[in-house]
Amino acid sequence: MLIDGKEISKLAYKDIVNEIKIITKKIKRPPTLNIILIGENPSSLTYVNNKLKKCEEIGIKGNLIKKPNNIGQKDVLSIISELNADKRADGIILQLPIPNHLNERILIESINPLKDVDGLTATNIGLLSIGNPRFIPATAYGIMEILKKEKISSEGKNIVVIGRSNIVGKPMVALLSGKSENATVTVCHSKTINLEQHTVNADIIIVAVGKPNVLDGSMVKKGVIVIDVGINRIENKENSKGFSIVGDVEFNSISKKASLITPVPGGVGPMTIAMLMKNVCEAAKLNI
Ligand code: NAD
Repeated sequence: MLIDGKEISKLAYKDIVNEIKIITKKIKRPPTLNIILIGENPSSLTYVNNKLKKCEEIGIKGNLIKKPNNIGQKDVLSIISELNADKRADGIILQLPIPNHLNERILIESINPLKDVDGLTATNIGLLSIGNPRFIPATAYGIMEILKKEKISSEGKNIVVIGRSNIVGKPMVALLSGKSENATVTVCHSKTINLEQHTVNADIIIVAVGKPNVLDGSMVKKGVIVIDVGINRIENKENSKGFSIVGDVEFNSISKKASLITPVPGGVGPMTIAMLMKNVCEAAKLNI
């Protein structure tokens, strides 16, 4: 059975839109999301445009600060510092990836943790890891909402998370292994020697790798629940764009064994932006 992420996100947006109305009344302006975009990475441009479009649709003021690829570290730091000081700037995002000459960690750490709606500062990662999250990174937050809406309990389950990035894998591990979810979590990554040995006994598998066909039907047990986070472009001459978007799992063989699976597109993706918008609301509420 497919998990319909679009439908779940529609329900989430109903609550978010109501919340935005209440916040806007209280702070006498709409909540704001400020996105710093450096360079011309086409995927980043698409992601940022999607975020801004959604902001406009639901009543958040999106503010794009677009800078050329050759901007220096000091200039980015001063943009962040101005936003930190601006009482009308609720959420701040530094769209990743950034060019190699910039120091990502220093720039992220310069964002005021109270405005860090991506949840990537050490303070916010720390709060999440001790079970007291402030801003949960949006994709991980979206997956938790999907599990909740589908009434999938994690308690006592064997959950395998494939991928250990700061934006997906690690926050998933922190959330699922914490005292509110109580799962037994195994983390697999690029240096895992025998992936199948871990996945074959898993009740739930979360795959966030960024490569097609990392997991196939032979590697999972019957009834497994699969959350496919990956977004991969593969060549497809039959498609007018010349490519298709697929996830990280080999969908045909897995879907024959899985009791539930998120499709790509239409699974985790729609929930990611929804949960980012929820984080912006949380940041704006700090002004009340
Ligand atoms: P990342 O590149 O930061 O991390 C990938 C992880 O996969 C690493 O931890 C690496 O150790 C692991 N890995 C690599 N090869 C592996 C292999 N063969 N077996 C097991 N593990 C392996 O990626 P990310 O930012 O976490 O994103 C992962 C994927 O999810 C990408 O396709 C990305 O586009 C997608 N994504 C989707 C959404 C969404 O909203 N749907 C949001 C964020 C990321």
